[in-house]
Amino acid sequence: MTGNGHNTQEELASYAMRGLPEEESASIRTHLQSCPPCRAELAEVCGDLALLGIAVPLQPLPEGARERFLQRIAAAPAVQSQETLAQVTPITVKTARRGPGFWVPWAVAAAMAITCIALGLQNRALNDELQDESKLVSNLAAKASQAQQVLEVLTAPNAQRVTLTQGKVPAEPTARATYLPERGGLILLATNLKPLPEDKTYELWVIPANGKAPVPAGLFRPDASGTATLVLPPLPAGVPAKAFGVTIEKASGSDSPTAPLVLSGATTGS
Ligand SMILES: [Zn+2]
Repeated sequence: MTGNGHNTQEELASYAMRGLPEEESASIRTHLQSCPPCRAELAEVCGDLALLGIAVPLQPLPEGARERFLQRIAAAPAVQSQETLAQVTPITVKTARRGPGFWVPWAVAAAMAITCIALGLQNRALNDELQDESKLVSNLAAKASQAQQVLEVLTAPNAQRVTLTQGKVPAEPTARATYLPERGGLILLATNLKPLPEDKTYELWVIPANGKAPVPAGLFRPDASGTATLVLPPLPAGVPAKAFGVTIEKASGSDSPTAPLVLSGATTGS
């Protein structure tokens, strides 16, 4: 402390460099809270320290640096009263004390301003990108929800399934397969199927266009109304089909057809 109760430049410099024991630091902090002249003085000291701080990454001060810094302060023109410093120190004196380093903070500030503008632009670009992304996500969600509804209608146990026929001829068993070879996607809707004994199942076969063995495409059993659906059974992608067939197999299914086809149909497209 100085005679009039203010902090000395040395104390403030040590404080700014976190070079004081905690107790002393705390007492200076308390004083600074209520003393504008000492705050102004600290700002001055910090201005000098900032040049060091900006120029190098934060790391422990080299051996003796603190002492040299304090000596430099001691060698600077002594200021009798810090009240005077705060109130009437002519600007020319301050400028002289700053020396050639005076422009460095301004250069740093300008560089930071440019960085801030660049960051701002980058941020805006990221925001735009984010908005595009969230539009994409909501589009996908809408599509997924529509697909979900289609599937729910197709496969709901309580859906009414009606086969429309000409005249009063009772409807024959029919199955309609919708197949997307490049994805291995398949949906089968079968109606008017004859009931099966417990130990039997219907099995669907993809008959490949290349003449290879039929590919098992899933098992299905009709409900009480003779209806069955088979939705996206696991199938290899990229197998163009020549035809589809249904056989009756043992309840666990077969790897290749063991019985004559009860339903079959050739693809009409390529
Ligand atoms: Zn003070």
